[in-house]
Amino acid sequence: MMAAAAAASRGMKTLLLEKNRILGKKIYLTGNKRCNVTNSCDVDRLIENTPGNGVFLYSALYAFNQEDLIELFNNLGVPTKIEEEGRVFPVSERAADVVKALERHLYGNGAEVRLSSPVSGIDFKGGKVRGIYTCRGQFIRASSVVVATGGLSYPWTGSTGDGYRWAEEAGHRIIPLRPSLVAVETEDKWPAGLQGLSLDRVRTEAFTSGGRKIREELGGVLFTHFGLSGPSILTLSRFIYDFLEEKVLLKMDLMPDADVTDLDKNMVEYLSGNPNKLPKNILNRILPQRLIPVLLKKAGISSLKAANQISREERAGLVRAIKGMDISVAGVRPMEEAIVTAGGVSTREVNPSTMESRLVKGLFFVGEVLDVDALTGGFNLQIAFSTGYIAGMNCR
Ligand SMILES: Cc1cc2nc3c(=O)[nH]c(=O)nc-3n(C[C@H](O)[C@H](O)[C@H](O)COP(=O)(O)OP(=O)(O)OC[C@H]3O[C@@H](n4cnc5c(N)ncnc54)[C@H](O)[C@@H]3O)c2cc1C
Repeated sequence: MMAAAAAASRGMKTLLLEKNRILGKKIYLTGNKRCNVTNSCDVDRLIENTPGNGVFLYSALYAFNQEDLIELFNNLGVPTKIEEEGRVFPVSERAADVVKALERHLYGNGAEVRLSSPVSGIDFKGGKVRGIYTCRGQFIRASSVVVATGGLSYPWTGSTGDGYRWAEEAGHRIIPLRPSLVAVETEDKWPAGLQGLSLDRVRTEAFTSGGRKIREELGGVLFTHFGLSGPSILTLSRFIYDFLEEKVLLKMDLMPDADVTDLDKNMVEYLSGNPNKLPKNILNRILPQRLIPVLLKKAGISSLKAANQISREERAGLVRAIKGMDISVAGVRPMEEAIVTAGGVSTREVNPSTMESRLVKGLFFVGEVLDVDALTGGFNLQIAFSTGYIAGMNCR
């Protein structure tokens, strides 16, 4: 949509072919239907938050950055607001408003749109784009074709990976596709017993089986029927994927703001102040009730023991469990459930200043189909918008 609007704004005859009956189907789902449209951080921070080839984006972001996007939406009647960690949302908190604004942008600039119109292939004989074929067998002549078919995640929104096939046919290398920002399955069964419980502030460290630290994240964790999800787990998934064959272990500090000595002191106070109570009726002041039996089991403390029967060693074990719950990772959820697809059209074969293929003249790749992927925070949509814009401005 952004590419078509930009091309049309330059007076080019522009046709957008969308296979769905509506435009921007995935956008309706974004940010829990509130659409985290971008991030207010500076360009360098955006690139830092793009572990998949962030540096490829410098030119695109200098041509069209987060401020430009916010201004564009403002002009299109969608004022935005900034929430924690710089996440930008429409004031209305409706993802639908973002799609409608993009539609106004498209039509306002004179682009033609055909819905329910899947493209089946691209003609690029002789190293130059000639046009596209529709699934109805029609050939449409074009001097430039922008492939904005998205990744492979949430395929029911339309992103079924067609663009990868066309890129390969054109001679492009596809960097292996993998799910990113996706929930994690655990070998341990206890997280499933806590299904639905979410904790706002947990420090989760990921290690290889050899003890090498892969990454740590501080933030929300959600227990699910298969293991773990929540913002910090989604981010970790991006980094642990490559180590899954080797085996990955997570260590969760459930009270990251308390140090071990202070926590132990507090524990002495809690337990000695309530000598005859069961620990589950004491610890619920500092921990969610559902977590307590799991922690007691980890610490080897019978849930029937009264506070005054808990030994010093058992208390130390409880503190250790709170500060470092070990969880063994079984794998990640499938691609269909991933927020983004990592991997894609190799950025080495795409000109970063235009998004044009270095192999086929007039062929452009933008958005998630590229081997570029970012963390959560509005970065992935900004990448799609910026790369789309720069391609639209360079079609000819
Ligand atoms: C649940 C969820 C929540 C998300 N939330 C956020 C968020 O809040 N902020 C953020 O920055 N990112 C978010 N993302 C990621 C973001 O939505 C994507 O990275 C972004 O939409 C990618 O844009 P794109 O244009 O490259 O691809 P897509 O948005 O996937 O669009 C590709 C389009 O191409 C069409 N298409 C595909 N093949 C063909 C064909 N052969 N012919 C014609 N049309 C075709 C598809 O139907 C689709 O409409 C979220 C993703 C998901 C799944």
